[in-house]
Amino acid sequence: MPFRLTILGCNSAVPANGRHPTAQILQVRKSLFLIDCGEGTQLRMSDFNIHGRERIGQIFISHLHGDHIFGLPGLLTSYSLNNRTNDLTIFSPPGLEEMINAVLKASGAHLSYAVNFVVVDTEKSTQIFEDKQVTVTTIPLKHGMPVTGYLFREKKQPDNIIAEKIAEYDIPFQKIKAIKAGENFVTAEGKTITHEELTEPAPEPRSYAFCTDTSYKPDIVPLIKNVDLLYHETTFTTEEGVHAEKYGHSTAAQAAEIAKAANVGKLICGHYSARYGDLSPIEKEAKSIFPNSKAADEGDVFEVEFRRTKC
Ligand SMILES: [Zn+2]
Ligand SMILES: [Zn+2]
Repeated sequence: MPFRLTILGCNSAVPANGRHPTAQILQVRKSLFLIDCGEGTQLRMSDFNIHGRERIGQIFISHLHGDHIFGLPGLLTSYSLNNRTNDLTIFSPPGLEEMINAVLKASGAHLSYAVNFVVVDTEKSTQIFEDKQVTVTTIPLKHGMPVTGYLFREKKQPDNIIAEKIAEYDIPFQKIKAIKAGENFVTAEGKTITHEELTEPAPEPRSYAFCTDTSYKPDIVPLIKNVDLLYHETTFTTEEGVHAEKYGHSTAAQAAEIAKAANVGKLICGHYSARYGDLSPIEKEAKSIFPNSKAADEGDVFEVEFRRTKC
C-alpha cells in the first residue's frame, strides 16, 4: 500500500525556470491529500498523472501567501464544473474562507458541493485530522504571518497473520480479524494457539513532515524526530542567506541542520528562489551537512517503503 509524495510545484513566489509555486500530493494507502495549492496545480496534476483528484477530501494549506493558495479558486470551480458532490475540507491559518468566498462571489461562481474551512492554531502543535489510516498534526513555523507545517503519520496497523498458520491450524476466515487484533485461537481439539505464534508485527508506520515557509526554527526538531521524509524549504543557499533572514526563509544548510538533528530518513529541498535555474548548489549545500538530501524537481515521486519492526 503506497505512501507516496508527488511534487507538483517547488518554486517560491514566482513561477520561473519551468517550475511552479508550491503544491504536493500525498497518497497514504487509499487516501489522497493535497498540500498547498499554488498557481498551476491543476495542470501539474494532469502533467504528472494524478488520477482520481476528485477523491481528494482534504486540502492542507500552510499559509495565505499567494504562492501557496492562488491555485485554489481554479481547482474549486473546476471541481464544480465536473459536478463534484462530495464534501471538501480545507485546513489553513485564518482568512482563507473570506478570500475564497470573495473570489467566488466576484466571479459569480457557485459550488456544487460543500466546502468546510477549518482554521488551525499556528501557535501550538495540534492533531487536526485523522481517518482510518493516518493522523495529521500541525507544526508551528515562523514566517512573518501565521503559518503551519503538517505532519502526516500513518496509523499502526494490526499484526499480520502468518499465511501458513491458517492452513496448519485450519483457522476459519471469520476468526482472522480477532486473531490479528490480539486474540488466541483454540483448535477443534481444544488446543490454544497464541496470538504471538500466529502473527507477525505489522510494519512500522510511515511518516512525512511538510515544513514551508519558515525561518530556521530548530524547536520543530522534537516534533519531526525520526520521520521518514522531511520536506523543508530551502529558498536560498547560505551565500544568499541575508535574504533568507530578511524574508523569513531558510537556507539549504539550515534545512539540513534540522534534518540532521531530527534524524529523518530523507530531506527533500524545495521552495526555490527564482534566481536558481540550476538547483545543484542547493542540493550540494544540503548534502554537505545531511547526505541523504535531494533538491526536488516537479514530477519527482518519493515512495516511503515499509520498514519491518525488529523482533
Ligand atoms: Zn512561499
Ligand atoms: Zn510565504
